[in-house]
Amino acid sequence: MGTARAKTRTPRVTTADVVAFLSKEYGPVEWKPRNDPMSELVLTILSQHTSDTNSDRAFASLMRTFGTIERVGEASVEDIAAAIRTAGLAKVKAPRIKGVLEKVHREVGSYDLSFIGEMPLEDAKAWLRSLPGIGPKTAAIVLCFSFGMPAMPVDTHIHRVSKRLGLIGPKVSADRAHDILEAKVPPEQVFPFHVYLITHGRRVCKALRPRCGECVLAWGCPSRKLFEASSRSKPTAKSRRPAKR
Ligand code: SF4
Repeated sequence: MGTARAKTRTPRVTTADVVAFLSKEYGPVEWKPRNDPMSELVLTILSQHTSDTNSDRAFASLMRTFGTIERVGEASVEDIAAAIRTAGLAKVKAPRIKGVLEKVHREVGSYDLSFIGEMPLEDAKAWLRSLPGIGPKTAAIVLCFSFGMPAMPVDTHIHRVSKRLGLIGPKVSADRAHDILEAKVPPEQVFPFHVYLITHGRRVCKALRPRCGECVLAWGCPSRKLFEASSRSKPTAKSRRPAKR
């Protein structure tokens, strides 16, 4: 009896399904190194609570003003704040950047963070998170994008879509989601999972009006009925359960 009930249970999307279905939808993704780790760290601090466009502009302005990360390290908090004004929250971000640069220089003797690439993942995370104001998301971004390590950055899109899909519990914070999702995704799939879920969150599983009728994961999403009922959007061929999984 228990077996018969299990067979009729609604299927649930797994992390492997996320990669399999969204890779068909969005095409292959390839990891390429983005910035050197110290620049990535500064850029990620600049990106907190603002758009990529604003943080890219602020980083370009910082480099235009000072020329090198070494010169940024020698600059005053006030001068750094003036250079990064376009990123917003310059009064918070400038001392954070200064504090991180000071601690790195004190501990390493330079701003070369390439040694992190030789560390085990958990040690590398712990080292970065020991820097002032650096949390799990910033540490994961540096490890993922500069070193290609299987660290899972969880941004607002990944946090939201993972909750809706039931991959994490409804009350799990974004900070806790890093470790939970990382443990569920094989190391070689961490980067594609991250990229696909962000893309899906931006294009389909939007914050206010998710397009469940166009979603290739709708067949196994526990939130779908809730959103379809409120929007009255009809299921389409895309959102129906595939014949074979
Ligand atoms: S079915 Fe709707 S809520 Fe679920 S992942 Fe797709 S778009 Fe998001």
